[in-house]
Amino acid sequence: MTIPLNSAQIVIQGAGPVGLACAIWLLENNPDLHLILLDKNPSDDQFLASGDERGIAISEGSKQLLENMHAWVKDAPAIHYVHVSHRGHFGQTMMSKDEIAQSALGHIVRYRDIILALRHRLRHLQTIASHFEWAFDFSAPMTVDQLAEDACLVHADGGLFHEQSAKDRHKDYGQSALVGSLEVSDITPDMAWERFTEEGPIAILPHHQGPNFKNFVWCASQNTIDRLVALEEKTFLLELQEALHLPIGKFLHVFHRKSYPLGLNIKQHIVVDREVWIGNAAQTLHPVAGQGLNLGLRDAHTLATSLNYIYARPSEHLGEDLHKTLSRYQQLRQTDRNATIQVTDLMASAFATNALPFVISRGLALSALQWLPPLKNKLARQMMFGQR
Ligand SMILES: Cc1cc2nc3c(=O)[nH]c(=O)nc-3n(C[C@H](O)[C@H](O)[C@H](O)COP(=O)(O)OP(=O)(O)OC[C@H]3O[C@@H](n4cnc5c(N)ncnc54)[C@H](O)[C@@H]3O)c2cc1C
Repeated sequence: MTIPLNSAQIVIQGAGPVGLACAIWLLENNPDLHLILLDKNPSDDQFLASGDERGIAISEGSKQLLENMHAWVKDAPAIHYVHVSHRGHFGQTMMSKDEIAQSALGHIVRYRDIILALRHRLRHLQTIASHFEWAFDFSAPMTVDQLAEDACLVHADGGLFHEQSAKDRHKDYGQSALVGSLEVSDITPDMAWERFTEEGPIAILPHHQGPNFKNFVWCASQNTIDRLVALEEKTFLLELQEALHLPIGKFLHVFHRKSYPLGLNIKQHIVVDREVWIGNAAQTLHPVAGQGLNLGLRDAHTLATSLNYIYARPSEHLGEDLHKTLSRYQQLRQTDRNATIQVTDLMASAFATNALPFVISRGLALSALQWLPPLKNKLARQMMFGQR
């Protein structure tokens, strides 16, 4: 199939959650848009059946965005309490939904279920958007010269840290994340734990299969993770209990272990001429604070709102309008991006050292969060809503 790149007003390269969400927001408000979405995946959802099992923490703000676009995954388990502590050191904090007057602190949704829900919604919009092209099995690199003069190229082809080339700010944490599912008993269902250890953070999170299951994310050095992946089940579960060293309940079985190398990879200028980078194509973060996708969805929402403003009405100065709109978009995203990147990098780096001053300040920071509710609320709100 030849893709009519020349007739497109906007081309989005990459149909992960951020690219799909951006396409939906654009078409919802402007179904006549000449939009092309370049999807590396096949059109059949079957590939998702063997796809990414990762449980992603979706903030309350992202939930609202997904609900409004009719792509929320119903029955996603909620997080009502989060317990944060550091193994072997003083200081801990507990956050609850009631402290910040919300129905939940967040929800856990499998990566593949997010993609499925977004694809479903986009298929529905496809029936009314007559100029929308969804090209599948497509991954050839794109340049803006292939498009019409006033068209915009949106890069949403994020990918994982180890698949990406280095951007302006690139930091390898020397860690990988081992993710998977646990069958459990006697564990509080709507609670999440984040436990910092010598080698990296471990998170235990609610699971889509209900209260007898949990997701886990175990960050440690690559060597440790390689060893943990290969461990037989019983030894693995004992090591996990030992690494956590918290009385949270029993771990019975482990499933779907998979590892992901971790790092920070940031594009400084997210707008160049008529090109714009969103989601992981703009910034790849450590998962310690569960912010990557939440930030990417805010990128996509702000971009779609900005672009709709100019493409939804005829203009004789489209090229000029596009340049102004994109540079304004870059400004609009600056504060939220910087804050989220800094908090995440600080958490990933500060807990990975045992130098005494850091150990003391970490303990104090956790204690301060516990005893200074306004500080805790401020941090929780940044994590839940970002700065929109
Ligand atoms: C272990 C782990 C745990 C995480 N946990 C959380 C969490 O709890 N909360 C959170 O908010 N975030 C989390 N994240 C981050 C989150 O997964 C990413 O931020 C999110 O997936 C970014 O979405 P995206 O659409 O920008 O990129 P991606 O999800 O990477 O999607 C990009 C898409 O583009 C496609 N593509 C690539 N190249 C091309 C090409 N040339 N042409 C066309 N298509 C292409 C890819 O195949 C893919 O489908 C976690 C990440 C990891 C590694």
